[in-house]
Amino acid sequence: MFSSFFKLYYYLIAVIAIFVILISCFFIPTCLNGETQIVISPLGFAWPIPGYTRITSYFGKRTSPTAGASSYHKGVDIGAPEGTVLIATIDGEITYTGFLGGGGYTVTLSKDNMKITYCHVSPIFLVKVGDVVQRGQIIATVGPKYVYGVKGNTYHDENGKPTNGATTGCHLHIGFRIDEEYANPLDYLQ
Ligand SMILES: [Zn+2]
Repeated sequence: MFSSFFKLYYYLIAVIAIFVILISCFFIPTCLNGETQIVISPLGFAWPIPGYTRITSYFGKRTSPTAGASSYHKGVDIGAPEGTVLIATIDGEITYTGFLGGGGYTVTLSKDNMKITYCHVSPIFLVKVGDVVQRGQIIATVGPKYVYGVKGNTYHDENGKPTNGATTGCHLHIGFRIDEEYANPLDYLQ
């Protein structure tokens, strides 16, 4: 009588445990990453934001979308919600983390004569200057639209709320510089 009761009890515990593990996979980003393929371009660059391919603004001349945003767009914008993971496109070294004017919170990944900037990222940095990272490694997440308490931040929306650099919504702005000259990231990423 008792033993069959305990068998049922342990069986129930096991079922609940499996259920909890399965459910939590929907909320833990690392579980989702297992399902999201890292796409490598012919030149060997990983797409920086796995699972998101919608370009909201291309490199080059454009109509400025918000006050302070450049009318010559020095990178590409890829739309994605806050918290989306961003990965290193190449093996390299982190050479900047901080708030960079119109870029908002920014992480820069460098290798040889190439600098790759990830803008409008989360202020909770996952890497620090000097970190050596590998292609595919998570180095940042898409940041919030609004940021508060940033000294010298002149960017804001039409209601005066301070924004994460010159941005109208959550997205990754990625910029490529080769010998300090801006290049079209899609030439490398696609
Ligand atoms: Zn941009």
